[in-house]
Amino acid sequence: KALGQNFLTDMQVIDDIVAASGAGPDDLVIEIGPGLGVLTAAAAEAAGKVVAIEIDEKLIPILRDVLCTYGNVKIINADVLETDLSALIEEERGGLGAVRLLGNLPYYITTPILMKVLKARLPVENFTVMVQKEVAERLCAGAGSRSCGAVTAAVSYYADVRFVRDVPAELFSPRPKVDSAVIELAVRKQPPVGLKDEDAFFEVVKQSFSQRRKTLGNSLTGLRGLDKAGAARLLEAAGIDPQRRAETLSLQEFADIANAL
Ligand code: SAM
Repeated sequence: KALGQNFLTDMQVIDDIVAASGAGPDDLVIEIGPGLGVLTAAAAEAAGKVVAIEIDEKLIPILRDVLCTYGNVKIINADVLETDLSALIEEERGGLGAVRLLGNLPYYITTPILMKVLKARLPVENFTVMVQKEVAERLCAGAGSRSCGAVTAAVSYYADVRFVRDVPAELFSPRPKVDSAVIELAVRKQPPVGLKDEDAFFEVVKQSFSQRRKTLGNSLTGLRGLDKAGAARLLEAAGIDPQRRAETLSLQEFADIANAL
């Protein structure tokens, strides 16, 4: 339970995840949390090579057994959050082309792993993941929508998010309490907005959503020690009405505030 071990039992969902990733014979796939290896096997059929990172050592002999007929699968017993993915890609890529990440993610690491992968600017084409349905909806909504949060704005800076499909709870064993969905994050080649300082952008996003019911004039008070008048001057310099709330801001408007800061 602590490791989010809800295993997929539906072959159609598994095929849909692999298809959404676009994995082909020239690609390296890195799978996070292979579990019992069902998704790994499907990925191995499609991709040139699959490297699967599983934290639970008890699953490793099962994975080796289930996947023994695939010559293109490597299983690593490690915590993905502690793994140097950049070095791993360098080591495993060989002559392969695109690198694609996929996984039916344990919910407790969804945000940390998304941010880790995106912030590290890994040479990765896309990241196809199963997440909690509510998280999928929030990530797909993008900046400027009511369900947008700090993670949505941060993720949409790095990636284009696409909804792939719903996955109801009964398609897992054991059955989780909530429904899930598959999304594909296509990593952007170019940032969607121009920033003088990326750290300032993430600080502004985080602070703006820290008290989402408040207006920006209030929520940005305290950012880098700004008092209320300072926050008002910052918003004025960025051309943003201090009465607005974070969820109404586009990525460009967050960028305008960060650049004014
Ligand atoms: N891919 C399998 C499937 O779809 O049936 C299993 C998915 S299950 C939701 C999540 C898997 O991630 C489990 O096997 C769990 O042990 C593994 N896991 C949890 N935390 C992890 C971490 N930090 N690093 C690597 N694997 C992890």
